[in-house]
Amino acid sequence: MTTNVYSRSELLCRGTDDSDIRAAIRDGHLVRLRRGWYATPEADPDTVAAVRAGGVLACVSALAAHGLWIPPGHDRLHIRFSRHGERAGRWGCHGYGSTLPCAAAVDTVPVALDCAGRCLGREDWIVVCDSALNSTGMSPTELRSQLPACAAHVGRWINDSDRRSQSGTESMVRLRLRALGYAVEVQPEIPGVGRVDLRVGRLLIECDSRAHHTGLDTYCTDRRRDRAALVGRWMTMRLTYSDVVSDWDAVLADIAAIVRRDRHRLRPGRKLPLGVH
Ligand SMILES: [Zn+2]
Repeated sequence: MTTNVYSRSELLCRGTDDSDIRAAIRDGHLVRLRRGWYATPEADPDTVAAVRAGGVLACVSALAAHGLWIPPGHDRLHIRFSRHGERAGRWGCHGYGSTLPCAAAVDTVPVALDCAGRCLGREDWIVVCDSALNSTGMSPTELRSQLPACAAHVGRWINDSDRRSQSGTESMVRLRLRALGYAVEVQPEIPGVGRVDLRVGRLLIECDSRAHHTGLDTYCTDRRRDRAALVGRWMTMRLTYSDVVSDWDAVLADIAAIVRRDRHRLRPGRKLPLGVH
């Protein structure tokens, strides 16, 4: 991630001295945002706004800047101020425990997740955390060790996160079904089909994103997998982004009807592939 916003100490670490900084400002290669903070003309506007306001890009905005998937409805700028920041304590986002210094223009993912524990609800936070763990390869235990002072609820949310999740909608479906008591398996390997997003009993749930399911190859692969699933007596339900985000009640009613009927049909003692809960 390159924001092109730098503190003076970052520039000095790169071998630049104060006279170089003054020359770069004079030549238009750097803009002074506030005392000790500079940006190049092509710098990220959100980061520039956060630093100009006296803080750094933090919380949900920092997580978005790190390329993580952010649920809709969180567009405002999230800024964190250091203890010495002029607006510290009045507004802005802050994490738990002692206030961290603002060393870089954008907070790291763990620091931003800690802050976001105040700005996001459980589902949205875990969706973003899944995305963070999936993209960094970090385990929930490793993340927890980087947040020694996090709030108890953030610790619980970390435990409910899953780095195997492949998309925000998959995370939402897992969380919502588990909250209702469904036994949901994440990314199971189904013989003849391959890896699927979620499994509830005999129902396979695929959370399709337009970005990953519109190519001709994927179109053909998805249909081959659906055919193999039917042969194996599985049922496949493909959910779109708008199914999950805008029409969840209808989706849930369908899942409930399928799972209920599936259980009703099961004869006692009969074993299904992978074991149905
Ligand atoms: Zn925030």
